[in-house]
Amino acid sequence: MTKLALTVGAVIVALVAVGASLRTHAPTQNPQTGGNGLTQTSPKRPDKVVKTEEEWKKILTPEQYSILRGHGTERPFCGINLEDKGAGFYHCVGCDLPLFKAARKFDSGTGWSSYTEPASEDAVWYVTDTSYGMVRTEVRCARCDGHLGHVFDDGPPPKRQRFCINGTVLKFVPEK
Ligand SMILES: [Zn+2]
Repeated sequence: MTKLALTVGAVIVALVAVGASLRTHAPTQNPQTGGNGLTQTSPKRPDKVVKTEEEWKKILTPEQYSILRGHGTERPFCGINLEDKGAGFYHCVGCDLPLFKAARKFDSGTGWSSYTEPASEDAVWYVTDTSYGMVRTEVRCARCDGHLGHVFDDGPPPKRQRFCINGTVLKFVPEK
């Protein structure tokens, strides 16, 4: 083997080593959260509810199915879960997870059931929704991944969040 071949070989080995080192030290991004810190992937949890579309159709009404599984939106002022029902929680109609506390419900005047925050941080997760030429933050149930509605930043202080949720996919469970 010539001296030149040995030198070329050494250079290639060095370049490969540098490449491997760059890959190892590349900045890692948390796959769970997006740039805004909101959970952007379906949370892994032991009580996850996964069903086929046929199974969902059996347990949901056509309206509930079109919203929860088809990402639909109910008509505003359709009246479902708009009124104050006292102390309790609003549960997901798909999997019964408590999603919103009645005490955090407020009248936004929009015609949709509105809350200042979820029942707990791990009750919901978020997806950036760019449909209809808008950039909105979609809210999904953490247990069954069902579509619930959207969250906006024009709510009341201090958090200024407005969870605009389809009342059709919530069922009220009074506090015992
Ligand atoms: Zn659910």
